[in-house]
Amino acid sequence: MNYRHIYHAGNFADVLKHAVFARLIAYLQKKDAAFRILDTHAGTGQYDLSSEEAQKTGEWQSGIGRLLSAKIPQDAEALLAPYLDAVRALNATPEIATYPGSPKLARMLMRRQDRLSLMELHEADFATLQARFAGDHQVRATKLDGWLSLAGHLPPKERRGLVLVDPPFEKEGEFERLVDGLAKAHRRFAAGIYCLWYPIKKGANVKALHAALEGLSIPKVLCAELVVRSDRETDGLTGSGLIIVNPPYTLKEELAIMLPFLKDRLAQDRFARERSFWIAGEQGFDG
Ligand code: SAM
Repeated sequence: MNYRHIYHAGNFADVLKHAVFARLIAYLQKKDAAFRILDTHAGTGQYDLSSEEAQKTGEWQSGIGRLLSAKIPQDAEALLAPYLDAVRALNATPEIATYPGSPKLARMLMRRQDRLSLMELHEADFATLQARFAGDHQVRATKLDGWLSLAGHLPPKERRGLVLVDPPFEKEGEFERLVDGLAKAHRRFAAGIYCLWYPIKKGANVKALHAALEGLSIPKVLCAELVVRSDRETDGLTGSGLIIVNPPYTLKEELAIMLPFLKDRLAQDRFARERSFWIAGEQGFDG
């Protein structure tokens, strides 16, 4: 396992993922009943953007860095607030130095009755993650293969919850694993909200991923994509997408406000684009 998220924390792909993840948690907060968040590929939980690793790539500068310095239209600001307020809360000065990974963001948005289960396999990153939440009885970090947790940790006893699947895509066959993982998880916990991340880059067969997801016969599947540049001169990441199963009924409309703003703000060339569309079903979730 070579992947370390510190090199990528706060980049344009994290912005999309974390902005939508925060909206999904904000939606779960609307009912008093407790919920659980399962983060199958958790990372270290929080990132120091002044570290040597983060400075080496500087990826956050064209992600969260651009967003915090932006004048944000009121409607987009209201929707991005759960995410951006968390980032602002971690940074006392206008200079951003600390970035919340999905575990920290989730923890900041949880209430007393809610719980967070974190899976991480990388030895050192797991140790950091575990130490970060030591003594917090609402959070449990486990050194376990995140794909296995989709069977072993579902359904949660709360019977309400959100599952984030955010693998590093460093191996062949991760798209197939994503589809198989979702199919297995959904059989165990059909009422859950799922948010699965995937990369968009040269050679990534996104069409086949969408077709495979369509073939699962899961009733409500929404997709959101943001591409920030052309792939003509790079083999690197040019965009990312999210698969959202059982999205809140408001999410499609919210994406229609958030995505165009994020595209304008994060574009790196004139080929930047965004879209959101239903892979299956057209109605959101009210549970
Ligand atoms: N979800 C995090 C966030 O948004 O802040 C970022 C996660 S990063 C993209 C992927 C993480 O998955 C890495 O920390 C990597 O060590 C971990 N990982 C890789 N394979 C794994 C596996 N099979 N099970 C659990 N974690 C794994």
